[in-house]
Parts: sequence; structure tokens; C-alpha cells
Amino acid sequence: MGRAFVYVILGGGVAAGYAALEFSRRQVAPGELCIISEESVAPYERPALSKGYLLPENPARLPQFHTCVGANEERLTTKWYREKGIELILGTRVKSADLKKKELLTSSGETITYNYLIIATGARALKLEEFGVRGSEAENVCYLRDIADADRMVNIMQSCAGKNAVVIGGGYIGMECTAALVTNKIKVTMVFPEKHCMARLFTAKMAEFYENYYKARGVKFVKGNVLTSFENDPFGKVTAVILRDGTRIPADMVVVGIGIRANTTLFDGLEKGGAKLALEKGGIKVNGRMQTSDGSVYAVGDVAAFPVKLFGNDIRRLEHVDSARKTARHAVSAIMAPDETGDLDYLPFFYSRVFALSWQFYGDNVGEAVHFGDFPNGRFGVYWVNEGCIIGAFLEGGAKEEYEAISKVVKTRAKVSNVGELEKLGSGFALRE
Ligand code: FAD
Ligand code: NDP
Repeated sequence: MGRAFVYVILGGGVAAGYAALEFSRRQVAPGELCIISEESVAPYERPALSKGYLLPENPARLPQFHTCVGANEERLTTKWYREKGIELILGTRVKSADLKKKELLTSSGETITYNYLIIATGARALKLEEFGVRGSEAENVCYLRDIADADRMVNIMQSCAGKNAVVIGGGYIGMECTAALVTNKIKVTMVFPEKHCMARLFTAKMAEFYENYYKARGVKFVKGNVLTSFENDPFGKVTAVILRDGTRIPADMVVVGIGIRANTTLFDGLEKGGAKLALEKGGIKVNGRMQTSDGSVYAVGDVAAFPVKLFGNDIRRLEHVDSARKTARHAVSAIMAPDETGDLDYLPFFYSRVFALSWQFYGDNVGEAVHFGDFPNGRFGVYWVNEGCIIGAFLEGGAKEEYEAISKVVKTRAKVSNVGELEKLGSGFALRE
């Protein structure tokens, strides 16, 4: 059994949705494009899963947040794909790829051939077992990557009001899920190995603000420590977590957010006879047109490691929604309009929203961190200055024009002659430029 398409998108997440929109704008003909996804629903805005989806009242539910509403674009429902003649092959895993034959083999035994392939397989959550801890399969241990995980977490939360949760990991998932748990009236203890939360992005001073904000809402922090085992009841349900130093924390539910791995295995050549593409930084290496080491194959989103012009073409793999959206659109443009598509000039952009807080970050967080603003009242920011230029900027609680201004000074690498003045002016420096 087999089908042939001109364009195939492998994966049905954020990047797939934005690629589909771009294909449609570029007049893809009915029957030319298909999306193959392991998930059973059309592409959606994944960030909603740790925010609106977990709210106790009026939670976000599909079809509200199908792509591409997150970028104020059209909402691509199943009907939209049908009307455009774009085939959605859902609930279907691609088991293997043959790049020479330009052929994918699916879990249902179907062979799908392509002229152009866009790999948009995203990433999977790291499991505790990969760190030598057993017990992930317990009914009250949650991970969060897709709708099925989110539905499971919602169910468990509903039985835990007034009870205790332990959140393992102090990164994005840890911070956003803790906020959601508190909003659902669950008492949370966060456990992570670093000295402070969001250690890869936040300075100690930034983290102090967020940790104090969380503590004021009852959250407890256990830092510099890791989970080593679970205590379970006779039915296998977790009742407590045990840490490396022997600390025991009672738990009615556990949420784990300890990082991700890009889904590269179909293309890492490790399986005998398996497809092989060049890899870097844990992802599939692409050029500025999102093209892999095979000219007919492109990679986008979390799985792609691409050159960032702003950082001297350093290869980066970014795990954020804005990069998924933009790399996807760029790949489609490179395929459908090769003559008018150059190398992507991307400004890395991350954001988060927790409780009533909201921040944006642009660029890179290396060099000297210059803090500014009113920290106790949550109206603050940070510039990262390297070799006399601004190369990164973060702002909490900013207005639209302030966010636009800080993104611009990062993009243009605004020169800083006086760090003291930068500190004093804060976002005013960016607004003035
Ligand atoms: P994904 O969206 O993960 O999609 C990958 C798709 O490929 C999935 O549908 C998967 O099932 C499918 N797939 C994988 N392998 C196969 C296979 N072999 N066969 C078939 N299908 C396959 N970023 C931000 O910037 N801000 C946020 O606030 C934010 N919040 C987030 C909240 C959560 C809960 C999560 C999990 C992520 C969040 N992110 C956020 C990150 C952002 O969602 C990702 O960067 C983005 O989803 C990456 O898009 P993608 O298309 O590359 O991968
Ligand atoms: P992160 O990489 O953000 O954070 C993982 C955290 O877990 C780090 O603090 C890490 O510490 C810690 N950790 C690692 N191993 C252990 C361990 N054994 N025990 C306890 N803690 C451990 O990943 P997340 O899982 O939080 O997020 C998954 C993905 O989802 C990321 O790609 C993220 O970008 C994305 N996401 C993005 C959001 C946003 O942009 N707003 C929101 C939600 C998710 P260390 O650094 O020392 O390894």
C-alpha cells in the first residue's frame, strides 16, 4: 500500500501547522501536501498546554487553539485542511525513512513517497529513568508534552485539590506547571539541582524575584537536590518522593519537567540500514534555508539545529515556539520560491506567562548582565552586554512598545558606551534608540 505526495511534513505540531499555512499561501495544489502525525488532532499551539489548558475555570480546549492563532493568523481546523486538499494522516507514527528512495514507512504499514520532505518531529520529554530513577509509569506521575499528557494532568489535578504536589525540575515546565497547580489549589514543592530556578536563562537576581513571588503563594523550593526514588502505596501510586540527601516529601501527585531530547532517531543512522543526516547540537543540522545534508529534506522547529546570523552563524537548536513558526515558514519559502529566499535572519525570542506575570527575552544571555528597573514590584529587565554591544534583553511586565524596543536594540546590537547609564535608563535606553 502506498501514496505519493510532492510535499510531506513529518510531524504534526507547531512547525507543521505554520508550514501548512505557508504552503497554502503559496498556492500548493490540492493533493500535493500531506502531514503525518502521531497525534490524533490537527496541529495546535503547544504552549497552551501549560497555561490556558490547565486553568480550573474556562480552560482552553481544542478547536480553540489550533495553529496558527498564536501568531494572530488563521485557525487551521480539520475542515480547513480538508478544504485546501491537504491530507492529514493522524494517529500515525513514521517508523522508518529511506532517503534514497524518498520514502517513509508508517506504523499502519503504508509507504509514503515525497519529492520534498520537511522533518518537524519536535522533541520528547526526558524520562526519570534516563537519570536512573524508576517509577515514571505510576498513575499520579505526570509529564507534559502533548494533549494526552495534559488531559491526564487535568484529571489528576482534579483529585488533588488541597493536597500536595512535588514538581521535579526548575525550568519552563516546572515554573509554568507549578503556577497552574497553585491556581488549582494544590500545594507545591519544587525540587531541582541548580542554585535557582530557570538557571539557563535567569541570573540569580532575576530568579530571586520569581522565587519570592512563588513563595508568597505558598510554593516551597528545594534546591541543589535531586529525586532518587519514589515511595508507593500497595497499588503503585506514589505517596512520597525521596531525595539524594534522604529528605522525604509527601506527594499526592508529581510533575516532571527535566528537559527534552529532539526526535532525531529516524535520521541518526544508528539503526542498521537506517537513514542518516548530519546532526549537531542534538538536532538535525540545516543551513540557513533549513535544508539538511540531503537536498530534498528540510528540518524545522525543535528538531532543527540552524545557523543564527546574529550570533555569527553559530549553530543553535532552539526549543521555543517562535523559532518553530519562523523556521517552518522559511523552509516552505525556500522550497516553493527558492530564488527569492535567502538565509534566515532570526532573532531568538522566548517568552513565558505565569500567574499575573509575563516576560519576553530576545537574543543571547552571554556577557555582562545589566539589571534595571523596579525588582520588588515586578517591573524590571536585564540587558546582556558583550564587547560593548547589547546582545540580549529581558523584560518582565513590559508594555508592547517596550518589548518592541528591546528586540530592536538586540537585533541592531546597539552600542553601549556607559553601562551605568544603561542601568539607569533601563527600557528607556531602548525606547530612545
Ligand atoms: P512539536 O510541536 O513537539 O511537534 C512535533 C510533532 O511531531 C508532534 O505532533 C509529534 O507527535 C510528531 N512526531 C514526532 N515523531 C513522529 C513520528 N516518528 N511520526 C509521526 N509523528 C511524529 N515555547 C515558547 O516559546 N513559549 C511557551 O510558552 C511555550 N510553552 C510550552 C508549553 C509546553 C507544555 C510545551 C511542551 C512546550 C512549550 N513551548 C513553548 C515550546 C514549543 O511548544 C515548542 O518549541 C514547539 O512546539 C516546537 O514545535 P515543533 O513543531 O518543532 O515540535
Ligand atoms: P528545561 O530544560 O527548561 O528545564 C529542565 C529542568 O530540569 C532544569 O532545571 C534542569 O536542570 C532540571 N533537571 C534536569 N535533570 C533533573 C533531575 N534529574 N532532577 C531534577 N531536575 C532536573 O526543560 P523543561 O522540561 O522545563 O521544558 C521542556 C521543553 O518545553 C523545553 O524545550 C522548553 O523550552 C519547553 N517549554 C517552553 C516554555 C516556554 O518557553 N515558556 C514553557 C514550557 C515548556 P539542569 O539545567 O541542571 O539540567
